[in-house]
Amino acid sequence: MPSAQESSSVRVKRPWPRVVILGGGFAGIYAARRLRNADVDITLLDRGTSHVFQPLLYQCATGLLSEGEISSPLRHLLRGHRNVHVALGEARSIDPDAKVLTASRFDGSAFDLHYDYLIVAVGMRQAYHGHDEYIQWAPGMKTVDDALAIRRKLISAFEMAESLPTARERRPWLTFAVAGGGPTGVEMAGQIRELATHSLAHEFRSIDPSEARVLLFHGGDRVLESFDRKLSAAAQKTLDKVGVETHLGVHVTDVCETGIETTSADEAHTKKRYEARTVLWTAGVEAVPFAAHLADALGAKQTHGGRIEVEPDLTVPGHPDIWVVGDLMSLDELPGVAEVAMQSGKYVGGRIAKTVAGGKPDRKPFKYRDFGSAAYIARRHALLQAGPIRISGFAGWVSWGVIHIAFLAGYRNRFGTLLNWATTLATGSRRERAITYGDPESARQPYADPSSES
Ligand SMILES: Cc1cc2nc3c(=O)[nH]c(=O)nc-3n(C[C@H](O)[C@H](O)[C@H](O)COP(=O)(O)OP(=O)(O)OC[C@H]3O[C@@H](n4cnc5c(N)ncnc54)[C@H](O)[C@@H]3O)c2cc1C
Repeated sequence: MPSAQESSSVRVKRPWPRVVILGGGFAGIYAARRLRNADVDITLLDRGTSHVFQPLLYQCATGLLSEGEISSPLRHLLRGHRNVHVALGEARSIDPDAKVLTASRFDGSAFDLHYDYLIVAVGMRQAYHGHDEYIQWAPGMKTVDDALAIRRKLISAFEMAESLPTARERRPWLTFAVAGGGPTGVEMAGQIRELATHSLAHEFRSIDPSEARVLLFHGGDRVLESFDRKLSAAAQKTLDKVGVETHLGVHVTDVCETGIETTSADEAHTKKRYEARTVLWTAGVEAVPFAAHLADALGAKQTHGGRIEVEPDLTVPGHPDIWVVGDLMSLDELPGVAEVAMQSGKYVGGRIAKTVAGGKPDRKPFKYRDFGSAAYIARRHALLQAGPIRISGFAGWVSWGVIHIAFLAGYRNRFGTLLNWATTLATGSRRERAITYGDPESARQPYADPSSES
């Protein structure tokens, strides 16, 4: 039944449906892009100001790329989308009956966002499996802050070693331990050796950076378990060649300021200690805290790592106006990779656009098309696995480069990254090695004061 207002001769324009997108990662951005021409008012909320290209974070951490080259300001990225309003804030709670999302600003004050359709794309964070105290010694690799913290640790470790008088004192500073033999751990381990053997090789006078030991610890029986066995064996061969010491079948069971303890995964549970002043953590992910609030408020089920179980159309069961997409969604054990995030975001954007245009809900199930995966191992060595295609070595490395450049946001980032890669390949140098201390207060006193030692 048309309302009196609609049937009168002067039609009043009804407000467009409100779409709130939480998260400006791959899933959130692809949802917003798909809704670009739809008659909806979109608010994209993120706790950060930029879309971050996580697959290249490790290159920012090891001084190859700048943080600017692997990220794009969300406002700039979406400046041409007239129906998108970008908001900075952290989603905190939700009232599904009132269709209100509450977020907080930097200063802790709260604000509400009203929605007709809600897309949750807040991703995952590094998991420390009940040992959050490790974070201070072993940063993870999920954010630009993580990458810059790791860069600070790496560069500082070489500087510390240079300043110490004896080999015994230098050794722990020149030992780098990486927990987790998935793509991020393998990429980090390979890059640290490259940094040591190529970029820093002739810059120090007391130490030989190429003596840096890089230890990679993994609980499984091979690195890169998500790849075909042959590819994972090829990756292992390259890691051995570049000098990464791989320890398989062991879990890192303790981390402190001076090193780590490992425990073998077999029945013997043999413990071993390694002195290493730089420890990096890439062993697993878990849902961001907002996921638990969401699941609680919606009565949704959280599965592995706190992911939220969704229907085949990516809605939360019992909530046809709320979708969970990207890394946070749990559906058919789909992997937490960029392609799943992009396709799921695009799919939901399309469903909402069709629903708004047609006036009735569109419930076609989500179908993921697997275009394969790639992992960087070392200079001129990468893996590509796509359907029956298995490529490693130089051909894999070229394919890896093409894929990553294609998905980087913005021409400027693509050009800058290509230029940096070419320069580093030709000269071995890495220029993005400035280190930061987090905030001006820490920067005023970045070193421990010897007079305060007891
Ligand atoms: C180091 C690393 C390397 C990777 N390499 C590859 C690779 O080679 N190939 C590949 O396919 N995939 C790779 N991935 C995985 C890929 O990056 C993820 O699958 C993808 O980023 C997931 O996208 P998303 O949009 O779901 O989440 P994200 O990209 O994580 O985005 C989530 C967004 O939500 C925001 N957010 C979080 N909580 C809140 C909140 N409460 N309120 C508001 N905003 C919030 C965050 O700031 C962030 O911008 C890698 C990931 C990492 C960390």
